[in-house]
Amino acid sequence: MTKSAKPATIAAHAAGALDPQSGGVVPALQPSTTFYRDASYTPIRSDNIYARDNSDNLRQAEEVLRQLEGAAETLLFPSGMAAIAAMFRTLPNGATAVLQSGIYWGTTEWVRDFCNRRQIKLIEAEADDLLATANAQSPDLVFIETPSNPWLETVDIRSLANASDATLVVDATAATPILTRALDHGAEIVMHSATKAINGHSDVLAGVLSTAAPEAQIWQNIRLDRKTAGAILGPFEAWLLTRAMRTLPLRVERMSQNAQALAEYLLSHNKVADVFYPGLPHHKGHAIAQRQMTGGYGSLLSVLIEGGREDALRVVSRLELFLRATSLGGVESLVEHRHTIEPHTGIPENLIRVSVGIEDINDLIADWTQALED
Ligand SMILES: *Cc1c(COP(=O)(O)O)cnc(C)c1O
Repeated sequence: MTKSAKPATIAAHAAGALDPQSGGVVPALQPSTTFYRDASYTPIRSDNIYARDNSDNLRQAEEVLRQLEGAAETLLFPSGMAAIAAMFRTLPNGATAVLQSGIYWGTTEWVRDFCNRRQIKLIEAEADDLLATANAQSPDLVFIETPSNPWLETVDIRSLANASDATLVVDATAATPILTRALDHGAEIVMHSATKAINGHSDVLAGVLSTAAPEAQIWQNIRLDRKTAGAILGPFEAWLLTRAMRTLPLRVERMSQNAQALAEYLLSHNKVADVFYPGLPHHKGHAIAQRQMTGGYGSLLSVLIEGGREDALRVVSRLELFLRATSLGGVESLVEHRHTIEPHTGIPENLIRVSVGIEDINDLIADWTQALED
């Protein structure tokens, strides 16, 4: 793709992936795990030796994400957690890491356990305290998530990048590369669970890391870790991901519009105590989100229902379009009663997390209207 191509163009054309062999406008799926050599023992293609190193379908999906992210290099992993783990595994024993509090629970759980086993000093800090903590502790690595899940806290990537020499890693899953290009704001590595909006059809598990500085030691170590430890995305998943990403900008645009409209509706409803969404002016992180996010505020929001556990569960049980399931960023809307899933994280019993899909907004609002009735 030309360097000036816009996200919608990059995505629709899958960054130029075609099938030169058949002339297909869609790249072929090539599932081979190994690649043959000619009679002089020279590989037919020097970049295709064994599928744990790389494969054409993987490179095609990575190229779309690399261009969308404005990155120098992108690596896909078999899940978001595999990407996070590959990155943390590069830390030496005795290192210091700062982790944002109140983020995706799977990250917190794994990072705590890993740092404990590896004598890595782990400091957890609220979004508002990250800057002061990074300054006071001189960590090797700072890991943040913006907007965060499920509180939709926003962190100013630029001010954190400027303030600290630490490797700044940003989980931008809820923003997608369409709404926030974290590397442009100074992050060294940006991570996404591609399982969420990037794939968007709730049928591929994948994770991705991108960097603007592939020569950095940490990135070299991540690349080597993926190849030698083997946490690599399979060709079929990569092919599905490339297919799904053709509509990523469209989906994100519609999901953000729907989420904004639903957030405003719910905030005005007398059965709703509060709504957490970066696109709402009263939201704590709205000013940062306005600076850092372009084209919308994403598909994720959390709602506090007036009352307690029973009131929230009643609403959740009455919703018909919003499927009761975990995860986010898919074309279908989902709801989750977080306290049932993770009671130990201090989540309020009246909180409902909502992932808004691409359905007609009038149908989505009507569903909440009936679910909130007496
Ligand atoms: C889902 C998610 C992850 C983990 O990704 P998986 O693909 O499920 O392994 C990490 N961070 C955030 C913000 C997520 O939503």
